[in-house]
Amino acid sequence: MNLRGLASVEQLLQTQLAAELIASYGRPLTLQAIRSVLADVRKRVSASEDPTLPARENLLIEAASLLEAWTCPTLLPVINASGVILHTNLGRAPLSSAALQAVEAVAHGYSNLEFDMETGKRGSRMAHSDGLLQRLTGAEAAMVVNNNAAAVLLILAALANHKRVIIARSQLVEIGGGFRIPDVMKQSGAKLVEVGTTNKVRLADYEEALAEPAGLVFHAHRSNFKIIGFTEEPEWKEVVSLAHSHGVACVDDLGSGALLDTARYGLVHEPTVQETLATDVDLVCFSGDKLLGGPQAGMIVGKASLMAILGKHPLARAVRADKLCLAALSATLLHYLKDEAENEIPIWRMISLMPEQLRQTAKGWSHELGRGEVIPGKSTVGGGSLPDEELPTFLLALDVKSPDRFLEKLRRQSPAIIARTENDRILLDPRTVLPEENGALLVGLMNALRDKKKTVGTTRGLTL
Ligand SMILES: *Cc1c(COP(=O)(O)O)cnc(C)c1O
Repeated sequence: MNLRGLASVEQLLQTQLAAELIASYGRPLTLQAIRSVLADVRKRVSASEDPTLPARENLLIEAASLLEAWTCPTLLPVINASGVILHTNLGRAPLSSAALQAVEAVAHGYSNLEFDMETGKRGSRMAHSDGLLQRLTGAEAAMVVNNNAAAVLLILAALANHKRVIIARSQLVEIGGGFRIPDVMKQSGAKLVEVGTTNKVRLADYEEALAEPAGLVFHAHRSNFKIIGFTEEPEWKEVVSLAHSHGVACVDDLGSGALLDTARYGLVHEPTVQETLATDVDLVCFSGDKLLGGPQAGMIVGKASLMAILGKHPLARAVRADKLCLAALSATLLHYLKDEAENEIPIWRMISLMPEQLRQTAKGWSHELGRGEVIPGKSTVGGGSLPDEELPTFLLALDVKSPDRFLEKLRRQSPAIIARTENDRILLDPRTVLPEENGALLVGLMNALRDKKKTVGTTRGLTL
């Protein structure tokens, strides 16, 4: 055990390589990395019989890889070739170009987020999207919060704390990521009153529950879950009018919040926000990054008198939307207002792609790669909306030795490529690949087929 020959921190810092590391990563972090490498060597050497001390250069190379590992970003873009349009694990909806520009414009400097340009006094951040939401949906009032889970929580906390909230048992679902409607109700302080059975609920069930005073009648979209067979549910409109006759307000958690009619695209009809408001429901809430195709946000639209109560609740401040979200959201909503959503909003462009266009793209890939077969298949909408709904597509199918290892190779590309397998074949769906990603997708595929690990060196130009 002779550690005397080991370089000191000071000696290592004198080297050219250390100077380059400091230039890239800053002095404190570089120092931390060097110390960590030296401590490691001391531990290794003390534990072994035959200690050979690593050369200075090797110590610094180890420090460089530590620094690389500590600083490389973990949140990275990926190419979604899975065919799942709203993939919650892949960040749900990609933003439109206009939404991105709007974010950039307000992110770089200051903005009038809460500044009234007319009076020069304090304004409201809600002014930026509420008007658009009202115009689009016809609602009296609107409010934007951090996400739809927050919208549900705020509504229940503000309108039903310590009060009974009536909901059909068949709607007490878990949406994913542990978001369970009954748990959120409990957190909000509301008292859950389940009516009906798992598969059936009748108007009379609601009527019975409404015999005692209640805070709200709640309707939750079943989202990624479907009840089929021996089922029954009254028209929501009838439930609303019954609740109103008892002086109780109604809330509909729509989940994905479609503003366009999904039936126009060969999908099952998803209730739109506009239609839902027409049932005379008091409040409707929905996500910003599902079928709306915008940033993560929660929208609440409906009666002005209730919205005023929500706005005054302390939770409203805790769940408010930030300026980047509001910028992206306003730009996204504008696409709907200008009737250009199908062309400008990426998820609607994907939904409306025709099988023939997709076949051409898949054929192009196959041609460039010089392998693979173009086969018919299905894309899905995902994001907890429209379960089981599929869109016809064409896929590039690749036969590889080990599909799981190949998927892993694809994930190691830069950017990573997310594909799927079926019957031991790799399947790539052009529907969810953005046109500008085509080149990177092909490079990644070629690399993976040639068994290269990574395309881009990540040593940041260091002369290692
Ligand atoms: C997705 C979903 C939510 C949660 O929305 P987030 O925006 O992800 O917070 C709540 N309710 C329903 C019915 C949903 O489908």
